[in-house]
Parts: sequence; C-alpha cells; structure tokens
Amino acid sequence: MFSSKALFRMALLMAVLYSCGTSQPARRNVLSPGAPGSVDNRSGKHPSQTVFTKPNQITKRQQEEERKKINTTVERREEPAAGSGDTALANASYKSPSYYKYITDSIQRTSAKASYYRSTESLFKQMAVVPNPQNPAVNAQWYTTVNFDARKPNFVILHHTAQTSAEQTLFTFSITRTGVSAHFVVGRDGLTYQMLNEYMRAWHAGKSRWGAITDMNSCSIGIEIDNNGEEPFSEPQVESLLKLLGYLKNKFGIPQANFIGHADIAPGRKDDPSKYFPWKRLADAGFGYWYDSTNLQQPPADFNALLALRVIGYDVSNPATAIKSFKLHFVQTDTTPVLSDYDKKILYNVYLNYM
Ligand SMILES: [Zn+2]
Repeated sequence: MFSSKALFRMALLMAVLYSCGTSQPARRNVLSPGAPGSVDNRSGKHPSQTVFTKPNQITKRQQEEERKKINTTVERREEPAAGSGDTALANASYKSPSYYKYITDSIQRTSAKASYYRSTESLFKQMAVVPNPQNPAVNAQWYTTVNFDARKPNFVILHHTAQTSAEQTLFTFSITRTGVSAHFVVGRDGLTYQMLNEYMRAWHAGKSRWGAITDMNSCSIGIEIDNNGEEPFSEPQVESLLKLLGYLKNKFGIPQANFIGHADIAPGRKDDPSKYFPWKRLADAGFGYWYDSTNLQQPPADFNALLALRVIGYDVSNPATAIKSFKLHFVQTDTTPVLSDYDKKILYNVYLNYM
C-alpha cells in the first residue's frame, strides 16, 4: 500500500515527466550571436560572430520561458523520491552516480534527445540558406558552388571534469541551465560516451586563445575526462582516451601539435587537466608534444622565453599565467610563475617542435 504522501509524489513525478515529454519544441536561433556558448559560454557575444537568421524566429521571452520550464523540471527532480515506489531512485543516495544516472536517463528520454534533433534540424536549415537575406554585403545575383563539404575540427582540447562521477557530468551536459558541453566524456572505468556529433560546436573552451585563434570552440573537439583534479587518471581511462584520440586524429587529420589542454588555451582562468595528466604518454603515442629529456640543451644566449611561449601558442598577455600554464603541462612538479634554468631548457626543447 502507498501512503497518500507517496501517491502525491508519484502523481507529481508523472506530471513532471508528462509535461516534459509533451512540451513545445524549444526553438532557439542556434547560429545567432549571443546564443549560450557562442564564443565564451559565459561571457556572451563576440563581435566577429557571423549573423544568421532563423526562418521561424521566436522571441527571447519564449526562449526564456522554455528554458525555465526545463530547469524547473530538473530542480523538482533533485528531491530524492524515497517512498515513491520507484526503487531505482529510492535506492540511490543523493548525488551518487546511480542517482545522476537515473535523473539523466529520464531527462535524455523525455527532453534532451528531442531537443538535440530540433537543434540539429534548425542548424541544417540555416546552413542551407544562401545567400543569407540578412547579409547586406551581397548585392548580386545568386550563383551556387557545387564543391564543398562540412568544416572539420582541427584541435582536440582535453579537460578534467572536476566532478565526482561521469554520471554527474552526463547530467551537467544534459540540462540547459549549465550552458556547457563536450563532444566526449571518458569515465574512470574506461567507458567513453559521445554526446555531440564531431561536426557540431560544443561549449567547452569558453574565453580562450591559442596562437591567433580566439574561438577555440569553433575549431576543436572537447573531451571531458572524469577526474576531480586531485587524483591520478586511471589506466582504463587513459587507454580509452588514447583510442579515442587515435580515431579523431585519423578521421580529421589533426596535427600532433594540436592536442592540448584547457589550461593551455585559458591561462589564469583554467587549470585542467591537472598535473596528474599523462601528457608524456600521449605525446609518445603521437598526441601533443613532449620534450626529449635525454637531449636537453642550453638555450642560446638570446633565447626569449616569452616569445617561445607565444610561438608554441600561449597567450602571453599575462606572462605569469602563461608560464604557469606551460609548467602545468610540461613540468608538472612545480607550477610557480617563474622559469628556472631547467624549465627554460624544457621550453627551448618544446619550442623546437613548433619551429
Ligand atoms: Zn576544462
């Protein structure tokens, strides 16, 4: 027998699931500037962002209402449903992997997958429109080319999740209010999840810079590795990651130099992946560079360390944070913002790979 309280909770859960499954499509202008993650997933617009117009434009208010509806649904579900008769959720401790798995599976089933297909369909429609009626620079007859394909990612950006389980990260990327995502999530157990097609733009890099590129989301694949930032990465996880990197490198012809970390492209703002990340092992397998410890030479007298960092790709507008990011990646045992003679030898050795 269910108590009246339990029956009420069941009714509430059913109402929530029903309203979610039958809600109107959330139409968002996914190619518009200012869409979450358009350049910086938290900092809004980028002036150089191309302006596209979606055929059935909806108002900002409608978008906001849709967003609130989904987020409210999620918040309501964050109450453990003990006594609801749903044993899977009742047996899961609050915020345990099984708790997140249950909630995320429910969101995926009822709203996330539908939202994904709506967004991709909207993107395809917008990309197929040429010339764009909003483009005032086009003032001649329309001729189409017949020779093209999709743009491809040319970088892989590696992250640690700083969360407690892969399930928590899958949840984080399944709801709109977080405004973050990645193409892949690699669990500690070696399970690799794909959340987004590689040709789509995930929101993982945020405000970042590498060389002259200031929109890393547009040219990269984002991989989130389940790790809290204060622990070594597990062997099954590293093996799965290497397999994934090999697949991406072959499929898109990504250069060895272009496998880098979030901290590399966002000095002073990000510190992932942590000092425990096995960059040398990746470099030995052809993903990113490492220095040759058996052949560390003294740099020339006129060696300019900041210029070398800049050549590699670091944003050196703040030299101290650039040095810290470099050391997090290549020195790992010490991340003070100062280059020792030994650090300079490492830097010179790495720099030669980029010449
Ligand atoms: Zn990151």
